[in-house]
Amino acid sequence: MAHVCGLGMGLGAVGRVGAGASVSVSSSHGAGRRARAGVRAPASAKSHSVTLLPGDGIGPEILSVTRDVLVEVGRTKGVEFSFTEALVGGAAIDAAGTPLPAETLEQCRGSDAVLLAAIGGYKWDSNPRELRPETGLLGLRAGLNTFANLRPAIVLPQLADASTLKREVVSGVDIMIIRELTGDVYFGEPKGIEVRDGVRWGFNNMIYSEPEVDRIARVAFDIARKRGKRVCSVDKANVLDVSQLWRDVVTDVHSEFGDVELSHMYVDNAAMQLIRNPKQFDVMVTGNIFGDILSDAASMLTGSLGMLPSASLSDSGPGVFEPVHGSAPDIAGQDLANPLAQILSAAMMCRYGLDEPGVAQVLEDAVDKVLDAGYRTGDIMEQGGNFKQVGCKAMGEAVLKAVQGTL
Ligand code: NAD
Repeated sequence: MAHVCGLGMGLGAVGRVGAGASVSVSSSHGAGRRARAGVRAPASAKSHSVTLLPGDGIGPEILSVTRDVLVEVGRTKGVEFSFTEALVGGAAIDAAGTPLPAETLEQCRGSDAVLLAAIGGYKWDSNPRELRPETGLLGLRAGLNTFANLRPAIVLPQLADASTLKREVVSGVDIMIIRELTGDVYFGEPKGIEVRDGVRWGFNNMIYSEPEVDRIARVAFDIARKRGKRVCSVDKANVLDVSQLWRDVVTDVHSEFGDVELSHMYVDNAAMQLIRNPKQFDVMVTGNIFGDILSDAASMLTGSLGMLPSASLSDSGPGVFEPVHGSAPDIAGQDLANPLAQILSAAMMCRYGLDEPGVAQVLEDAVDKVLDAGYRTGDIMEQGGNFKQVGCKAMGEAVLKAVQGTL
């Protein structure tokens, strides 16, 4: 697991180390258009190439803010980020006639990490499947073989009252949900809609191979070793054969991780337990569709989708780092989006994808600081207390100041 580096996710306080460095920024919009700008870093600076995929809706707004913050953190920590922008999702459909242009995938494959914002929007909702923005996302995951999706659900003390659940239920929640991302019913064949004897049938195939389950189980046990040493594997083995295989393989792999406690839970119970007593969980590992649903449910423990980052890792090649939320077309272009999930996704990129835990820590601490200082976008605004409601740009500027130590 070359791309699973440091695994601590806390937002603790840490001192800042200043070091002169400079940054180069480039952008390209598919088809070879490329423009470079910026300052050369000293020869000694560490350099990372990052593909930026702004996508649709609020994507460009939150990614622009995040790029500025990354540039500043890089400057203070002596790390050079070389950014190249590429098209994906609806923006790519409009510009290039496909949700994942070949140049985009090639660009991503050749970089050290991919920082994605979000895709999708009403405009493309009734397109045929191959011309949907989501098809680009699935193609990106498959094309980079990012089979392990890490979604932390951490309830920050500053936001414990933003959850719809009681403070005593959510306070202190720190769960890492590990979702298998390139298999299961989302990719299984056969699939389709057919007419048989005059009746329409829709079908997909829920399918996992032993190696697919083996490798995701290893990721889960590895990560648990660096956290609370407990893994809960979620399946539906009481009904589904594919889940019985999942359970058998996870149990086999566990024999190599004697220091980690393993439990199994049926997915329906897991959904209920996440709401009833989320603090019982440390690491949860599950398949693609169960993970999709459970991680969204877990996200609401934390109060806002706008706070949740994710990482999708392969065992070789670049990872994809993106917020859990979508493109929020209802608030796009209005400077209302919360950019913190995107900034925390950049922190995950630095921690898990680029082996820059120091940079990740600065980003996480800066987010912590702006929340402590009372800055809130609309989605996490609370009544009463000393809070300042701000837009996307102002939130980004606050994080920038926190990075500079001037907040
Ligand atoms: P969504 O996550 O975009 O929005 C759900 C709600 O949360 C909306 O009210 C939105 O305004 C709010 N919200 C989301 N992110 C926010 C942020 N950063 N700051 C403030 N508020 C935020 O989900 P949806 O409405 O179901 O989907 C909209 C589009 O996004 C669809 O086209 C969908 O396919 C797509 N989508 C993309 C991804 C992705 O890119 N990974 C994930 C989910 C949905």
